[in-house]
Amino acid sequence: MMPRKFTPKLCACGCNEMTKGGEFLPGHDVRLLGAIVRRVGGVAKLRVIVEIAINDVIVVNQITNGD
Ligand SMILES: [Zn+2]
Repeated sequence: MMPRKFTPKLCACGCNEMTKGGEFLPGHDVRLLGAIVRRVGGVAKLRVIVEIAINDVIVVNQITNGD
């Protein structure tokens, strides 16, 4: 287990509320993701933008550990 820190931080979604130490308040990561997807016009367009930005392809069926 990673040691937990509880230093309040500004929520990364931009709502100007403080978290209990995480990057987002509960559910706000989903809200931000939804806003990003809507802004760029869909998940497929978001993928293209991200792939350009990171200069790499996004692999869908990649096995992840400890998710
Ligand atoms: Zn927020």
